Amino acid sequence: TTNTEVQLIDTLEVLPLYIPREKYAHKGTYGHSLIIGGSFGKMGAVTLASSACLRVGTGLITAYIPECGYTILQTSLPEAMVICDEGEKNIAKIQYAIEPKSIGMGIGMGTDAVTVKALKAFLKTNTTPLIIDADALNILATNKTLLKSVPKGSILTPHPKELERLIGEWTDDFDKIEKTKAFAKKYDAVVIIKGANTITIYDNHLYINNTGNPGMATAGSGDVLTGMLTGLISQGYDALTAAIFGVYLHGKAGDIALTGLGYQALTASDIIDHIGDAYLDLF
Ligand code: AMP
Ligand code: MG
Repeated sequence: TTNTEVQLIDTLEVLPLYIPREKYAHKGTYGHSLIIGGSFGKMGAVTLASSACLRVGTGLITAYIPECGYTILQTSLPEAMVICDEGEKNIAKIQYAIEPKSIGMGIGMGTDAVTVKALKAFLKTNTTPLIIDADALNILATNKTLLKSVPKGSILTPHPKELERLIGEWTDDFDKIEKTKAFAKKYDAVVIIKGANTITIYDNHLYINNTGNPGMATAGSGDVLTGMLTGLISQGYDALTAAIFGVYLHGKAGDIALTGLGYQALTASDIIDHIGDAYLDLF
């Protein structure tokens, strides 16, 4: 369309975005990330996101989960700190005494009534940039006035079904883009439309990602992206840069992970295991 600027994103485009590690850095330099999510039977989403957040380079990571996930998180990811919600199986009141630089939320969270209430209350007072995914998107889609409380500098990461819940049905790809652009503008957010050739939308700009493969159509793949985006914002990337760079790195890690595995065998954990290779591949 006429007033849309489209850019294809590959290695040459992301290279200048990369923030080098400083010699005199300490873990505080690269920010404290918070991942809020999980429910009984869906704690793996938080583990995957927190793990990906670490691998992408966050200084510190805290997982905020319902109580039943405590042992799971502490056992599967020793680098992570854990804050337990007062809810046993579902998040029931989002309350913590840390000051994260960014918050990834919604993965494995469910849409239980107590969780909806907790999210509503949280959004009223929160000013920290959010990466909103999965069930948090679904809750926003059924309570659209909440979208006004999403802080500036936040990212929404819907897959096609979640996008449809947010913007309604579209007639074709052009209509989908126009509707998403209008939505992103209205709420001043970066929107990532996930899928093959993930598209990042902000203002009149469209960034089409060129990494990734159908092996990534697998459980937990999106949770990994959410963790990566959270970890990038904590390190000082702004929302748009984090989105462009994070989507690229996620796809590249998936592409490198294919070697010796193939599309069918690739899992979300394999993507995490190759985030380091995706960084190294830049140079
Ligand atoms: P989710 O549906 O939330 O688990 O997210 C899936 C993730 O995998 C997103 O980052 C997608 O971009 C990625 N993905 C899924 N299918 C494909 C595909 N066919 N090609 C490339 N990436 C994909
Ligand atoms: Mg998902």
